[in-house]
Formats: sequence, structure tokens, C-alpha cells
Amino acid sequence: MNTQEINSIFEAQKQNQYKVGASTVSERKTKLKMLKKAVEVTYRKAFQEAMWKDFHKSKEEVDLSEIFVVTNEINHTLHHLGQWMRDQKVPTPISFLGSSSKIKYEPKGVCLIISPWNFPINLCLGPLVSAIAAGNTAIIKPSEMTPHTSGVINEMISAIFDKNEIAVIEGAVEESTALLSLPFNHIFFTGSPAVGKIVMAAAAKNLSSVTLELGGKSPTIIDETADLKTSARRISWGKYFNSGQICIAPDYIFVHESVKDQFVEEAKKTIEMFFGSQPSQSEDYTHIVNKGHTARLKNMIADAVAKGATVTAGGTSDEAANYIAPTILENCSPDSLVMTEEIFGPIMPIVTYKNQSEVVKHINAGEKPLALYIFSKSSKNIAYFLDNTRAGGTCINNNALHFFNNDLPFGGSNNSGLGKSHGHFGFLEFSNARAIYKQHIPGALELLMPPYGNLKSKLIE
Ligand code: NAD
Repeated sequence: MNTQEINSIFEAQKQNQYKVGASTVSERKTKLKMLKKAVEVTYRKAFQEAMWKDFHKSKEEVDLSEIFVVTNEINHTLHHLGQWMRDQKVPTPISFLGSSSKIKYEPKGVCLIISPWNFPINLCLGPLVSAIAAGNTAIIKPSEMTPHTSGVINEMISAIFDKNEIAVIEGAVEESTALLSLPFNHIFFTGSPAVGKIVMAAAAKNLSSVTLELGGKSPTIIDETADLKTSARRISWGKYFNSGQICIAPDYIFVHESVKDQFVEEAKKTIEMFFGSQPSQSEDYTHIVNKGHTARLKNMIADAVAKGATVTAGGTSDEAANYIAPTILENCSPDSLVMTEEIFGPIMPIVTYKNQSEVVKHINAGEKPLALYIFSKSSKNIAYFLDNTRAGGTCINNNALHFFNNDLPFGGSNNSGLGKSHGHFGFLEFSNARAIYKQHIPGALELLMPPYGNLKSKLIE
């Protein structure tokens, strides 16, 4: 789509925003129900087929991690929207007698949603649910790396919404850059911290507000008291689901040295239980999104090995099939790529520790994680790690599941993100909390207006 077409869609939404913003609770619910039916019924099969073509993702995983996530967000919103949209009365100081105060949640206006490829459906439609709930118009720019899925999103949205309300603009950096030059009222971006900085700089030119859902390394700690079999199963699920292409996948594992061998054995057994002895043949194992990322991950393994790591499981790849085996690496050097860059793939580096303070020191030397996971049976140890680190979110004795609870805010902190999404937090992100102060009868404060002659004498007395 060329810049002129992009500008004209933006202008059309600008014109239409007040009509959309005036929609009632029941009108917004109708739109959400239409979206739900389209995702869950009409386009479900098309999405499953598109994602298989885009990166060998099984239809069960499409249901679990894409369709279900969107319908879950919609159900939660349908349940609470009336309450969220209601004006919120707040107290007024006694000295303002004769007046009342409330907060009105008004739509921000025309919003832009830019999404990544790793969960191409839920990461663009999830924020869209919040944008619609809050009464906005929106333009969605899905990732160019999952073109089949992005095509279905475009077809589906065009079938149920007018472009002057919700529009999809497919494309890559060129389209994204053209969109970012426009004065959107809000920009909701999900992607890498590097592109997040480009988005924020562009938003600053128009003082557009931003939500940035970014990434980075999400450390996982297993202490000496953890249930190792359960931890290995849950962590392997978080690491190898979607082939580790998850912003909140457990990135590297800090395990207490006394239980490392047992954890590694359990993790190896789990890989075989999940995907058989030849994961390359498994229909349940998602592949890497493209050749560039496959080569990047292959290089990460080679770099770790060259710097002294041992491959305990996997380590193999098939570049033609964009396949990287579920891999476990031990003895990784701190300066190897798997320990310094976000992995975003099915590689699990294991690092051992003796003292808790080593773990905290290492984590706090890096950027604030999007997620941090603690596996432990000791409430004292859990409290220590929670109190001495910072992160966007944490699961205790599990991973990634905080994303699925719409009553929890989802998002990072600084380098891993700004602002929160999901449920009420998403609604607030797409709303302006407008302060409304109403004067009912003349109040005492009118006595404070000029001329101040009387007032001065009163104050002095
Ligand atoms: P990305 O930042 O490369 O791309 C995201 C989007 O930005 C795409 O739509 C892309 O077209 C666009 N884009 C890319 N370069 C751009 C530029 N120079 N100017 C303007 N727009 C540009 O991210 P990705 O590779 O698609 O996704 C992986 C990253 O996203 C990882 O870092 C991951 O942790 C993060 N992520 C975060 C979350 C979250 O919820 N916090 C979820 C998924 C992924």
C-alpha cells in the first residue's frame, strides 16, 4: 500500500473517531462478538492452515496460543466492559463544597497497532480487543514475516469492519515507517527493544502516547528445594513450545549446582516425551520462522560450543526445513551469545550457582527482564529473589502462564517494555482518564476571588 492510501485511511479514521467513540456498551460488545465469531468459527481453519504454511505450527498450538488467547480476552472484556466504561466517582475536598468530581474514560482516538510474527494473531488482535473496548478506531500493521497469517487477518478484518473504523495495512519497514510519521493518538507496539526505540522516537515527534511490549532475556531460577521433575516438564514446555519463539520463554536457566544433573536428566527425558526421539519428524514441534532466524540460532549454538559449552541434547539443525532441534547447552561462557542476547529459539543454556547472591548480581547487571521465573519450595528463597530483582512479571513454579490471566497486567519494565496490556489494563492503556469537576451550587472557593481586600484582612486575622 502506498503512502497516499495509508494517509487517506488515517484521515478517514480521524473523521470517524467521534462517532466510534460515542458507541454504547452494547454497540462495542456487538463488535467484539463479531470479532470473536470470526476468529473462533469463520476464519479458524484459515488461520490454522496459514500458520502451518508460515512456520509449521500445529493446529492444536494455533488453537491454544492464538485463537483461545483472543477469545479469552474477548470473553473477559464482554464480562467487564459495562463496569470499565462507567464514570468513576471520586471524592472532592470539603473546601470545594458544592461540587462533585468523577473520571470519564474517553477513547484516545485513532490508534496504531504494530505486531510481531511469533504469535501473529493474538499479538495483533489482543490489543485490538482493548482498542475496540475503549471506543477507538485502529490501524493494524501485522508482521511481514508471517505473510499467510497476515493475509487472513486482513481478509477477516476487511469483512467485518469498515476501513474508517478498523483497517489492516500489510507490509514491512516502509509501511511501518509511513504509519509512524502520522499523528496517532496512541501507538501500541509489540516487538524488539531495538525497534521499540525507533517507534518511541517517531511517537515523540507527534507526542503520541505509546505502549511498548518488548523483549529481552527472561531468567529462570531453580533452587535446591525445587521439584525437579515438574520444573523440567514445565520449563521444557515454556522453552520448546512455538520452538522457543516466545517473548516470555524461559531464556537461560540458573540452577543450584547440587541439583543440576538431575534437572538436566529430567529435561532430556521431557524433550523425548514431548516430541519423540526425532523431533524433526514431530507434527507437534513448530519450526523457526525463516532462514535468517534459523541461521542466527545455528550460529548461537556454534558460538557457545566454540567458547567451551557442551551440547547435552539436540544441537542439530536442518536449514532447508528451518528446523533447530530442542537443545540443551551446559557450561556456557558468560560472553557467549546465548548468555548475552535474547535467544528466541529452542536453546536452553544451563548455568549453575552456589549462592543466591550470585544469581541476583548477574540478573541485575542486565536489563530488567520481561519475565523472571522462580522454581522453589522455599518461601524464604522465593521472597529473596522477588525482593532483590525487578521484572515485568513473574511466575513461581511455572512459566509463561501469567500471560493468560487477564486480571494480571502484562508488560515489561524499561528495556522490556512500557505500559501494560490485557483486560482492564489494556482498556486503560487505550483510554484517556478525563477529569470532570462539576460545580453545582456556589462554593466557598468563590470567596477567594479578587478583589482580595476582604480576604487579606480575613487571612491576617
Ligand atoms: P521486530 O521488532 O523486528 O518487529 C516488530 C514489528 O515492527 C513488525 O511488524 C515489523 O514490521 C516492524 N518493524 C521492524 N523494523 C522496523 C523499523 N525499523 N521501523 C518500523 N517498524 C519496524 O520484532 P519481531 O522480530 O517481529 O519479534 C521479536 C521480538 O518481539 C522479540 O524481541 C520478542 O521478545 C518481542 N516480543 C515481545 C512481546 C511482548 O508481548 N512483550 C511479544 C512477542 C514478541
